[in-house]
Amino acid sequence: MSCQALDELKRQIPLLDYLQANDWRPARRLGRGRWMGLCPLHRDHKPSFIVDSDKGLFYCYGCGHGGDVIRFAELYHELRFPQALALLRQWRGLAPLLHEAARFYGLQLHRHSEAVTYLHERGIRSPEVIEHMRIGYAPGGCLRGWLIELGYPLGALRQAGLVTAVGYDAYVRRIVFPLEGNLYGRSISPSAPPHRFLPGAKGGLYCWEQVRSYPEAILVEGLFDYAVVWQAGFHNVTCAMGSHLNAHQFGQLCDARRSIYLAFDADKNGSGQQAAQWLTHRLNERGLKIRKVWLPQGHDPNSFFAQGGDTQQFQALLEAAQS
Ligand SMILES: [Zn+2]
Repeated sequence: MSCQALDELKRQIPLLDYLQANDWRPARRLGRGRWMGLCPLHRDHKPSFIVDSDKGLFYCYGCGHGGDVIRFAELYHELRFPQALALLRQWRGLAPLLHEAARFYGLQLHRHSEAVTYLHERGIRSPEVIEHMRIGYAPGGCLRGWLIELGYPLGALRQAGLVTAVGYDAYVRRIVFPLEGNLYGRSISPSAPPHRFLPGAKGGLYCWEQVRSYPEAILVEGLFDYAVVWQAGFHNVTCAMGSHLNAHQFGQLCDARRSIYLAFDADKNGSGQQAAQWLTHRLNERGLKIRKVWLPQGHDPNSFFAQGGDTQQFQALLEAAQS
């Protein structure tokens, strides 16, 4: 890749946009185009990470790392230079499209009573959590037309997986949660497969940047679990989108010595508990303290809250959690 091509890539991916897409939030403004916040590259308690958005450069006084958006991607995702470039190129193509799709689905949520009713049944009631997670709804049969009107070619929609090979919207009657580089869609129809992701990685731990500075974190399996736990006031919750962590998620949990409350499903066949057991073992080896939260039989955190569990009761479960 030539110097001009690298400069072009950096111009198309402003560092500040990329940081914010990875959940970084500035704590204060230092001056024109200069921001300071917690460092996403080390465990930071007081802001030591400086971003110059005009120059597209960052520097951290805590860990001493600095550079441009490519350097940031290398360090943050633990990649070599060529892989970081490939990741950024892919992000450049996909990010605006997913952003537009998520925005469209967000607008649909309150236009479709079946979606709001479904959220209520799953215990999601506060406008704050809907806004925080940017929860949307895919009615089906209208995203394609909207995106094409905005100028996205059909081929790009197909490649992203938003539209099927034969040209229909891929997400139909699904509650949609935007993720880093993906969209999770939960079907509200019992006849359709419940879970759907776009092709590609599910990404890192959900909202990790907002959790990693806590000395204790709560790890749940699903986004509906996340939503109700967050809504109940536990903002140190994160979600792995499944009971198995990918290498990136595992690395995130282990980036500092912290305590983890594992609140996995107490499902009948025991697969959630088995996964919890295995994960506990691996995390203990890395020096993390793990406490298992025992939910009432047959419950996951979502059903616990949806069926009347409250903040105090969940707090009591956390306090009773065993290591
Ligand atoms: Zn740092």
